[in-house]
Amino acid sequence: MGRTHALTGWCAGLAVAPVVGAGTVHQAVALGAVTAGFALLPDLDHPGARASRLLGPITGALSWLLRRASARLYALTKGPRDEDGKGTHRHMTHTLLFALALGALTAVGTEAGGPYAVAGVVVFALLLAENALGDWLLPVSGGAVVWWAASSPDGLGELNQLAGWLGIAVAVGCLVHCLGDALTESGCPFLFPLPIAGETWYELRPAWLRFRTGKTAENILIFPAFAVLGVLLLPGVAGFVADGIDTYVGSTSATERP
Ligand SMILES: [Zn+2]
Repeated sequence: MGRTHALTGWCAGLAVAPVVGAGTVHQAVALGAVTAGFALLPDLDHPGARASRLLGPITGALSWLLRRASARLYALTKGPRDEDGKGTHRHMTHTLLFALALGALTAVGTEAGGPYAVAGVVVFALLLAENALGDWLLPVSGGAVVWWAASSPDGLGELNQLAGWLGIAVAVGCLVHCLGDALTESGCPFLFPLPIAGETWYELRPAWLRFRTGKTAENILIFPAFAVLGVLLLPGVAGFVADGIDTYVGSTSATERP
């Protein structure tokens, strides 16, 4: 599931990039990398998640902190009909409020911290994504960073421009994760703290959208579909493919004419 989270995050980032005005290939790729990485972050609330083990004691401590905060918040705000659980995994970090708060914090932090803060967020996201998608991403992202720096006329300036957008990318990444969990796992308390049916932590499970995926369906259908989409969404690629098809159709219909 981790790699599907990362890939859907990448696609969402590329889809959102032109909407928020991050129109260049550079900006879209950086935004996609951040949504891909942060689409894995909510599972830091589980000690066994890959993300929690990524940087040893650093992510381990972060995971512990998130679990403690989530449990405390759950105990404080639990509604009369909420389950008697601890409220650690799939609680605080799997809400709309958390996505918006972390997004806002990232936007403010990177605006204040400048290009190196932006680079820090992007690198952390790349490490999270690499951890889920596999080590092949390490040389690819290394190459991408070199391409980014070499082909950008003003690398630091362009990083600076990304500051506010990263907040959006972080929020979108977390939301894509929750959506993925809600569709395939046991639901997410998206709308916390809005009380629904006596629960403050009501787990939304949109039955009409849910599908049971076996590992096979995910491997041969869902993952490849998003992989293709992840390439098509790169700025310019869809237009290039459409032009290619046009030329091909044009040349075949021309040869068919008597
Ligand atoms: Zn999750």
